[in-house]
Amino acid sequence: MIDVKKVASTMTLPEYKKRFIKDFQGVEDTKTGKTHYCPRDLGFNFTIDDCTKRSCSKCWAKAERILKLRENLIIGGRTSDGK
Ligand SMILES: [Zn+2]
Repeated sequence: MIDVKKVASTMTLPEYKKRFIKDFQGVEDTKTGKTHYCPRDLGFNFTIDDCTKRSCSKCWAKAERILKLRENLIIGGRTSDGK
């Protein structure tokens, strides 16, 4: 199991969506049963300012965009390796 602090640096969006379920306060980690209120818990490098100026629903949207970008990079890497 990937350590929750390493989600930001290692997971792709589909992996994240398999493990974490959105609830009304944040996301629930299905591996530990814990609720995380802000993606900073998962190792995302957002500042406290990001959180206080905006709601954490925006933090989660940003986190998902970062994971999605990683997925594209990995897929791109695989195709160039194969040739
Ligand atoms: Zn936040």
